[in-house]
Amino acid sequence: MRVVYSEAVNARESRGLSPLEGEPDPEGADCVSCGRCCHHGPETVSLLESDEARLGESRLHALTVLLDRPPYFRFMRNDGDRCGGLDTSVEGRYPCAIYEVRPQGCREVEPGSPCCMEARALGHLGSSVLFRRADRR
Ligand code: SF4
Ligand code: SF4
Repeated sequence: MRVVYSEAVNARESRGLSPLEGEPDPEGADCVSCGRCCHHGPETVSLLESDEARLGESRLHALTVLLDRPPYFRFMRNDGDRCGGLDTSVEGRYPCAIYEVRPQGCREVEPGSPCCMEARALGHLGSSVLFRRADRR
């Protein structure tokens, strides 16, 4: 486990995302300047059928990927080490470009929640699978 953590630290430092200390504003005022929970590996944010309906065909095509193996889960597509739904047009700002129609799993990562605090401490989502658990508990 120590080796895995060291690799995570190295990867984090190489992309300049550092851990954040302290608890965020519970109302989400810190989220756009944080964005840590939207940085993660592929196949992290899964979609429910209701998420697919809310996103609509064009966004499904552009921003998601459907696995070609059973049970054919659909996930948000990654853009490097972050979710493809992030708007990265302004350096250091991480707004969700699809905030109003974001998947249910994202809605359950509240500022200050265990998943949030893990992401802030690591600089990315790390080993948490709460995104995936959110709709399949
Ligand atoms: S890690 Fe927490 S504070 Fe940062 S964007 Fe996610 S919910 Fe907001
Ligand atoms: S859909 Fe939006 S809130 Fe969810 S991980 Fe992607 S950028 Fe973040």
